[in-house]
Amino acid sequence: AIKTKQEEDIIFRSRLPDIYIPKHLPLHTYCFEDLPKFRSRACLINGATDEIYTFEQVELISRKVASGLNNIGIQQGDTIMILLPNSPEFVFAFLGASFRGAIATMANPFFTSNEVTKQANASKAKLVITQGCYVQKVEDYARENGIKVVCIDTTPEGCLHFSEVVKADENDLPEVEISPDDVVALPYSSGTTGLSKGVMLTHKGLVTNVAQQVDGDNPNFYIHNEVMICVLPLFHIYSLNSILLCGLRAGTTILIMQKFEIVTFLELIQKYKVSVAAFVPPIVLAIAKSPVVDNYDLSSVKTVLSGAAPLGKELEDAVRAKFPNAKLGQGYGMTEAGPVLAMCSAFAKEPYEIKSGGCGSVVRNAEMMIIDPDTGFSLRRNQPGEICIRGDQIMKGYLNDVEATERTIDKDGWLHTGDIGYIDDDDELFIVDRLKELIKYKGFQVAPAELEALLLTHPCISDAAVVPMKDEAAGEVPVAFAVKSKDSNITEDEIKQFISKQVVFYKRINRVFFVDAIPKSPTGKILRKDLRARLATGVPK
Ligand code: AMP
Repeated sequence: AIKTKQEEDIIFRSRLPDIYIPKHLPLHTYCFEDLPKFRSRACLINGATDEIYTFEQVELISRKVASGLNNIGIQQGDTIMILLPNSPEFVFAFLGASFRGAIATMANPFFTSNEVTKQANASKAKLVITQGCYVQKVEDYARENGIKVVCIDTTPEGCLHFSEVVKADENDLPEVEISPDDVVALPYSSGTTGLSKGVMLTHKGLVTNVAQQVDGDNPNFYIHNEVMICVLPLFHIYSLNSILLCGLRAGTTILIMQKFEIVTFLELIQKYKVSVAAFVPPIVLAIAKSPVVDNYDLSSVKTVLSGAAPLGKELEDAVRAKFPNAKLGQGYGMTEAGPVLAMCSAFAKEPYEIKSGGCGSVVRNAEMMIIDPDTGFSLRRNQPGEICIRGDQIMKGYLNDVEATERTIDKDGWLHTGDIGYIDDDDELFIVDRLKELIKYKGFQVAPAELEALLLTHPCISDAAVVPMKDEAAGEVPVAFAVKSKDSNITEDEIKQFISKQVVFYKRINRVFFVDAIPKSPTGKILRKDLRARLATGVPK
């Protein structure tokens, strides 16, 4: 919507005072700035093997990796792809790329070969770091582009073992001059519309967003000298930023878990006296519902943070009952926003009361505006509208996509989230709806446009639209409305199978509803609201 006239924008700021942010520092320098204070403290614990790396070791190994990357031809500004589950090697690869002045693009190792290849092509990855069982997903890309594949466990033919990269001499790394606006991370996100795009996050952006959470006298997220469990996938920016980077900066021990499995998870919390846990709602649900939880001593947990998708009141209450000594709060993030826009201040040194359902207040050193989607005017407190944010932490833009960038960040620098929310009298942000087409399955992104494009490749489907349907376990699942081609007898199951062969598990279509036509606007846009409304009034026949 185009704004025509409004005397003055109504801008909201954090309830906590602004801070100094060392925006000029490269991300790795910033993260390890306080290294002398916690040199020999445990930085990473590999939950699967009990192996421990101190802060000093993590910093040194990362510099060695940077030097090793340089030795195998990775230049400043090149992109490497990390295709790994949570592991110490993920951390070394990411930080190594940062020290080298390179860019890391992170991909879900469960992606199909097709999905990985798309991201590798789009980001022009010059190297892939992965593990043996996933090599086959990148083989073709690597061969066609003449690039190397580095493997962290086995050494399949033609691959290089990660130890070869690590054994480089850190002193051989050439001097790298990094500018604050250089890109360091390139996660993929579909944003408010369309297909997945590379989100350019810079050194300055990530430094700012980490500082907004953990720096200063009274931060949102007080995690100094704590033990934090890292079970959310590091390839998602929420985990990479709020767990890894915040943890490194604050001197937190990070306990790495490869995947969520309830018994191992509870054992690890008990064994390492985990004090901080960051979750997504489906993990909260699993914990709330599992009877085995009561067999473990979880009294060490002081902080439980949930984000990436909405957390209902019932789940909030259930998790409070399971973690007797913990404060529970929400954070609100979006990859393009750096990612954290708002965080509960219940974990601050001088905490604020937590409001049920609230996401805390906008992070410090940033501005938030709530815009009426129809008029483009900014709204006052307690009036819901599109959440917009401005500050140094937001993305530089989408890679090679000026149009999508301009659609998302307006000329005044406001990033439009596509989420609907309001700010109450105590500066607390509440998210109430999603304007954009994005579907979130357990916090993972599903872009309707991607599934619609795949559906249309089937000769028996003449038109299709994909929308979210509520689901207790996943939050939302993708469902399709499809128009059959003339004379076609295709079935719901055939369509589902056709899609599941081509996509990662969480993008599988849950239901297919056959219709005569897809409702569209005069300009040809799918009227997703109409379809969502049809689902809300009961599942169509
Ligand atoms: P992603 O870029 O994958 O992090 O997805 C961002 C989107 O997830 C946001 O724009 C919201 O729609 C949703 N989201 C993230 N955190 C929350 C939250 N605490 N409550 C509700 N929705 C959320």
